[in-house]
This record gives sequence, C-alpha cells and structure tokens, in this order.
Amino acid sequence: MSFIPYSRQHVEQSDIDAVVAVLGSDFLTQGPAIPFFERAFADRHQVPHALAVSNATAALHIALLALGVGPGARVWTSPNSFVASANAALYCGATVDFVDIDPISRNLSVAKLAEKLEAAEREGTLPQVIVPVDFAGLPADIEPMRKLADRYGFSILEDASHATGASYRGKPVGSAWADITVFSFHAVKIVTTGEGGMLTTHSDELAHRLTLLRSHGITRQAELLERQDQGAWYYEQQMLGWNYRMTDIQAALGTSQLARMDAMRDARQAIADRYDRLLSALPVFSAPRSPESISAWHLYVVELDTERCAASRRAVFDAMRRAEIGVNVHYIPIYMQPYYRHLGFSDGYCPVAERYYNRALTLPLFPAMSSAQQDKVVSVLEEALQA
Ligand SMILES: *Cc1c(COP(=O)(O)O)cnc(C)c1O
Repeated sequence: MSFIPYSRQHVEQSDIDAVVAVLGSDFLTQGPAIPFFERAFADRHQVPHALAVSNATAALHIALLALGVGPGARVWTSPNSFVASANAALYCGATVDFVDIDPISRNLSVAKLAEKLEAAEREGTLPQVIVPVDFAGLPADIEPMRKLADRYGFSILEDASHATGASYRGKPVGSAWADITVFSFHAVKIVTTGEGGMLTTHSDELAHRLTLLRSHGITRQAELLERQDQGAWYYEQQMLGWNYRMTDIQAALGTSQLARMDAMRDARQAIADRYDRLLSALPVFSAPRSPESISAWHLYVVELDTERCAASRRAVFDAMRRAEIGVNVHYIPIYMQPYYRHLGFSDGYCPVAERYYNRALTLPLFPAMSSAQQDKVVSVLEEALQA
C-alpha cells in the first residue's frame, strides 16, 4: 500500500466533463458558470447571497473590509486555525487578538469570549469583528456569540473553511447568525475548485459591497451609477477593490462537486464513525461531536491521552510518517508563529490551545479512503502508541 494522505480531493468523470465543457464555451471567466454556482450554493445553504471568489483568504479579507474593518479596528479570532483567519485582519491594518478555545470542541470558547468582552468593555477596547472558526468541520457555537454580538455591538465573520455542508441547530452553516460566512474550496477541503472561496450573507448591503470589493470596486449596473451613464462602454470604479474573482472553469468544477457534497459528507461521516469504534480502546481522545451539529468532517483529529500512554506525539507522528501514513498536526496556535511573536504575543497566551496542540494528531480522512487503508492507520497508530 502506498502513501495514505491526510486529505485528498474527490474528482469524478462528471467533474472533468463539466470543466471541459467550459473550456469549449465562450467564457473562461466572468461568464455564466459563476452566478450558476453561486445560486446553487446559496440554495443549498438556505441564504439569499453567495459570492464566489478566488480563495477563502481573499474572502476573509474583503469580508472584513465590507464590515468596516480598517486601521485601528480590533479583530478577535481562534488561535486554533490556519494563519489566514488572523492574517486577513492584518491586511486591513487592524489589530488581531486571540480568544482561547474550548478543550472539548477545540473551537473558540464562548465562556472565554464573554470574559474577554467584559474586560474589554471596561477598558474601552471592544472588538469590531469576531472570527469564529468551525474547526475540523464542527460548527462553532455561534448562537450565544450572536447574543454577545448584539449586546456588545460587534459583527461575526464565521470562517467555515472546514465546514461546507455542515449544519448547526438544524440550519446549514452560513445561513444564520453570522453576518458573513466564508468557505474554502482549496483541494484538501470538502468541496474543491482547486483554489476558490465563497462568501454568504443575508444582507443586501454587504453583498453589494462584497461584489464591488472582489472586482476592483467597479460596477456597470445602471441603477448604481453615481455619474450619468455615458454609453454602453461606461463603468464606474466606486471604491478601491481587488481582483479576487473566481474563473468559470473553477465554478463549473464547484457546481459539479456541490451536487455530490452530501454524499461526500456521508462518506466522511462513515469513516469518522468507524475511527471512533476502532480507536475506542486506544489511549487517545477521539474527535469531538456535538448533538447540536452535523459536522462536515474535514479533519479527524485525535489527542493523545498522555496519562495513559508514554509515547510522545513527536515519536508517534514520526513512526506513522515512516509507515507512509500522512498524519498531520492542526494547528500550531497562530500567535506562536514567529511573525505573531514579533507583534508581541508570547507562548502561554492561550493555554488550552497550546495543551491541545501539544497532543493533537490528524489522521487521514477523505471520501475514497478504503477500510484497508483505515485499518492500516489504526494498527500503525496502536503500535506507535505502545513504543
Ligand atoms: C484553508 C483555510 C483558509 C484559507 O483558505 P484558502 O482557500 O486556501 O485561502 C482559511 N481558514 C481556514 C480555517 C482554513 O482551513
């Protein structure tokens, strides 16, 4: 058996056919495949607006801009995420801070958030935006965050890069509670367009601003023009935007993948369920679940139970890689990165996230993973834990 990656895209002939069809059409970009994908995504996620962009990092950037984040603003996020969740705030000239995680869900802790907000209110340092992250596909506990948002006056930008197709309290992620939700279609994520991202929102006003921001701040829509229309060539740049557009090639792949999203999620869930059973006797804590949510199962992350096993995470990781198993570690707390240390953060800032990080191990999980591959992962893990 060859190398088993921690994640792998699931591409079928129908996806290939959809991409090839666009390549022979009139538009490779700015054509009809993009609004078609956006409509399908919006319908599936029960939200009025879905806007496709070049990647989720770009989506986070323009989402913060649309929410009014600029120099001097404060943005708080989870340390247990990919660096993009925090970097986007720095792109806007804002200050980033981190709220420690819940030890069970590994998502931003609502209790810690409430405490930090109380202190910030006293000190006059309340954030403008909170960026909860649906780590590993398990939705963040966002309804109580909404209550805090309404009380303290901040916006919620949900980073659902791991959670396309997940749901929380009976509603699809991206359909309720957050002001804007961002999804990633990078190749290792749930649904892929190679590189790509999506923003969802209920707000017509935010959708309008996001539409401008993703394409140079330019509009051609007659009813939106500030100056008099001078002819059919006329367009206006009304704000400073970027070129963060998705191509029609990617959108066609996304639409085709979206049609299989629920089936791929079910396949991931079945593998996760099987991991739970196979790992039950091993000295590890298995991936968390919540009765309130349906996870997208982007990642299956265990934590070594250091009280019941002597092997170090480093040794277990190395032994598994030697056996050609693509284990990984998600995530190094963002503020422990040298760039963030230079901004003034030090080790120990979010102790729960650090304790989690020191024991975490991501096991391979992808829709086409076979039982034989999974058995191999578990048996190598079992052996490595005994060493
Ligand atoms: C992958 C990821 C991103 C960035 O997504 P891209 O589409 O690669 O830009 C942002 N946040 C989280 C949590 C991610 O996992």
